[in-house]
Amino acid sequence: MFEETQDLFAQHILLTPGPTPIHPRAQRALQRGMLGHMDPEVFALNGEIQQGLREMYGTAPDTFTALLAGTGSLGMEAGFANLVEPGDEVLVCVNGSFGARMAEMAGRYGARVRQVTAPLGEAINPADVAAQLGGAALVAVVHGETSTGVLNPVPEIAELVRRSGALLTVDAVTTAGMEPFRMRDWGIDYVYTGAQKCLSAPPGLAPVAISDRALARYAARRTPTPLWYCDFGGLRDYWVDHSYHHTVPVNLHYAFHAALNAALEEGLEARRTRVAELGRAIVTTLAPLGFTPYVTDPATRLPTVLALRLPQGFDDAGIRRALRAREISVTGGLGPTAGLIWRLGLMGEAARPAPYRALMAALEDLLGERGLVRRFEDALNAVPA
Ligand SMILES: *Cc1c(COP(=O)(O)O)cnc(C)c1O
Repeated sequence: MFEETQDLFAQHILLTPGPTPIHPRAQRALQRGMLGHMDPEVFALNGEIQQGLREMYGTAPDTFTALLAGTGSLGMEAGFANLVEPGDEVLVCVNGSFGARMAEMAGRYGARVRQVTAPLGEAINPADVAAQLGGAALVAVVHGETSTGVLNPVPEIAELVRRSGALLTVDAVTTAGMEPFRMRDWGIDYVYTGAQKCLSAPPGLAPVAISDRALARYAARRTPTPLWYCDFGGLRDYWVDHSYHHTVPVNLHYAFHAALNAALEEGLEARRTRVAELGRAIVTTLAPLGFTPYVTDPATRLPTVLALRLPQGFDDAGIRRALRAREISVTGGLGPTAGLIWRLGLMGEAARPAPYRALMAALEDLLGERGLVRRFEDALNAVPA
C-alpha cells in the first residue's frame, strides 16, 4: 500500500540508472508556492535555466536551449519529430536498447532508417559510421548506452558526421551534467537528457539544446512538425518570445533550476572525478566476490552506469529482493543481459559514498562477506591512480 504521509522524509536508497535521488536543494525548491507559467518571475527563472543549460552542454553563447515537459524519451522524440521528414535517410547507431528506441522513433516519423550496430557490451566503431554515412540527412547516437554501460565515441563520430553535412542528434542522458559536454566543439546539432538522471531533479523535464543548423533544417520543412507539443517554433514562442504555447510545469522548473545550479556550482570536471573515484572503489571492493566489469574495453566503459557481471551462481533476483526489503534499489540487466549483470547508477546524488556504503553493509550481511564495508572504506581512501 502507498502511504501518503508516513515517513515523509525517509529516503529510499536509489542506486538505479535513473531515477536518481532528488538533490536536497531540488527537494526544497518543490515546496515553493505556485506561480503562473506566464509570470515574469518564471520567465526570469527560465532564462537562468537556459543559460545554465548552455554551460552544461557546452553550446555556443546564443544556442537555443529549453525544457520539454516530459521525460528523456520526449527529448529523443522531439528531435526526430522536428528534424525528420518522411523519406529522409536517418542513420542510427544501435548497440543497446536506447539506440534501438531511437531507430524505432525515427521510423515512426517516416525516416528510412539504416542502423550501424555493435555487439552488446561494445562501442560503436566510427569506421562503421563512416562506411554508411552516404545519403544520410541525420545521424543519431546514444552517448552512454544505459542498457549495457557502454560509452560511445561521440567526438569521433561527430567529426565524421560534420564533414558529411548530415545533422547529428546525441542522447546525452547519462553523460551531460556529470562530465563536461562540448556541443559546439564536437559539432552536435541536437542534444537532450532527462532531469531525473545526472542532475537529480524530479522526473518530468527533458532539457534540450538545438544548434542553428538544426533550427535552419526545421525552418526549411516542407510539412509542419507532426508533434505539435514540442514543435521547435512553439518552444521558441514560449522560451524566447514569452508568448503562450502550453502550460509548463512551473514547480518542476523550480526544482530543476536548483539542481542545475548545484551541479554547475560543484563543477562538471569535479563531478566527473567524483564518479570516477567512486566507481573505482566499488569495482575494487566487489572484485573479490567475483563481480567483474561487463564492458571489457576500459576506454568504452560508461562511468555513470557501472555494469558488473555477476559472480557464478549469484542469486540475482533473490539478493535484489532482499536489498529492496532494506530500502535499497539495484537494477539488473535488460533483455539479453538479465540475470547476467547489475547496472549500478553513478549519476547525480547516487554517486556519493553514503548510499554505496549502505549497499556494501547490506551485502556484507546478506552474503556473509565479512570486511566488505572496511574494504570499501579503504578503497575510497586509496590515492587515485
Ligand atoms: C533513461 C534514458 C532515456 C529515457 O529517459 P526516460 O526519462 O526514461 O524517458 C533515454 N536514453 C538513455 C540513454 C537513458 O538512460
